[in-house]
Amino acid sequence: MEKVKCRLCQKEFDISEMSKEHYPARSVGNVDIIAFDKVGMVDKFLNGEILDRLKRRENVEKIVDDTFDKDLVKEEYPEGRTALSFCRNCNTFLGKYDKSYLNFFNVDGDPNKVKGFSKRTKLNIIKAIYAKFISIPEAENEEFDFLEFINDERSEEYLGNWSLYFIKRDLSTDFWGFNDIRTGVLHYDEGIVYQLSDEKFIYNLMNFEKHPSFNMTNIFEILEKNYKMFYGEDSENRYNDFIMLSLLETEEDD
Ligand SMILES: [Zn+2]
Repeated sequence: MEKVKCRLCQKEFDISEMSKEHYPARSVGNVDIIAFDKVGMVDKFLNGEILDRLKRRENVEKIVDDTFDKDLVKEEYPEGRTALSFCRNCNTFLGKYDKSYLNFFNVDGDPNKVKGFSKRTKLNIIKAIYAKFISIPEAENEEFDFLEFINDERSEEYLGNWSLYFIKRDLSTDFWGFNDIRTGVLHYDEGIVYQLSDEKFIYNLMNFEKHPSFNMTNIFEILEKNYKMFYGEDSENRYNDFIMLSLLETEEDD
């Protein structure tokens, strides 16, 4: 039987012994992922269909519903997005971190609430998000240097090459309020930027210091007494814009 290497403990397993993990976790929006056809959207605006309907005073909500349901949304991952990156043990182990992450998600990352979390919980949140990047398809061949940090429940420090930043979603990141939670990657002269997101946050993992015009919070700042959280609109530039553009270009190539 074909052997697969667990990307966390690095041991080899039969495929049947691997676990189907969700990225991001099911509880934070990854259940029934729908892909959004932006090209179709733009076409509809350009050919005036939506505008015509608005002029005829049709109910705006109805137009939006029709447009999304019939034309622009196709179900791509009916079971949510899954990967076979971890063995069952590692997946169960990471589940503990995910529980902490859910606390962060549920309080919307609010610094005033997160500061009341224990240091352990905060570290678990950080590890949960780092771990999610191991499963994204774009990073399949990446040798991440933070496996030790994740594997050790007691580790409090990570001194490797990968920085993890986040921003909160808003209208500037979500075209028409639609949360596109597809993963992506960008290549710069300085290095690589990976992206994953859930319904509330967008995360970028990168092996260089972020560019100055990108306002984002380094995830390790949640360990401090206070931190500033940025919404998409607080930033002059967003990696998300370039990721979405790259996804759009990939779609056009298909
Ligand atoms: Zn494992």
